[in-house]
Amino acid sequence: CGIVGYTGFQDAYEIVINGLRRLEYRGYDSAGIVLDSYNNTFDIAKTKGKVDDLVAISENLRGKAKVGMGHTRWATHGVPSDRNSHPHLSNNGKIALVHNGIIENYDTIKTMLVEKGFTFQSETDTEVLVNLIQYFMDINPDIDFPTAVRNALNEVYGAYAITVMHDDFPGLLVVGRLGSPLAIGLGDNEYFIASDASPFVEFTKEAIYLEEGHMATISLQDGVDIRTIIDNSKIDPTVQELKLNLEQ
Ligand code: GLU
Repeated sequence: CGIVGYTGFQDAYEIVINGLRRLEYRGYDSAGIVLDSYNNTFDIAKTKGKVDDLVAISENLRGKAKVGMGHTRWATHGVPSDRNSHPHLSNNGKIALVHNGIIENYDTIKTMLVEKGFTFQSETDTEVLVNLIQYFMDINPDIDFPTAVRNALNEVYGAYAITVMHDDFPGLLVVGRLGSPLAIGLGDNEYFIASDASPFVEFTKEAIYLEEGHMATISLQDGVDIRTIIDNSKIDPTVQELKLNLEQ
């Protein structure tokens, strides 16, 4: 299972698909991609099967966007299927999320959200998290998107590496990590996100390995801003020089 994200000047489809291929060794049963081409709707494709199966249904997205993310799924909650594949969208269609790991208390949160009128398209634990982020934005219109992500993460138990996009904030990627790995590649006017450095080592040798309990906002405008999930304390990251082998 793996995550790849990109914001920059290159074709996001190409970067994400090639990145997912580099993560194939981790094992997976489904694959998906979402792109934001600044036209106010996400382009999304996902399927049970291999990255080749994903490419077969999504080649029309090539060249469409400079921002996007993808996922390979190793099912824990809900059978491998198109519907259970990531990315998952929030009820209002504005938030997209990919997740590696397990949300242990998804059932309690799902019950709460269903009582508030939310509906669910999948059997995954992950879909609960993306709707919880929407919920925090719904109940407090003044809240900013990264804060809603942080509030949601503070409600969940379990293990996760996540990447989240919001359609109203194209070019902004929000990531978080607890128990599953996530690395940020620092390029010239481009940023990469991946479960390990192998998807971006051909583009940059500089990376930040996100630490346990940390989240980050990543955009071309404001760069990488790392905070603790628990109390939003600013973190000064350690930038690592990647070695040429891919064993990092
Ligand atoms: N628990 C999530 C699911 O079953 C994510 C699994 C993964 O790590 O790929 O969809």
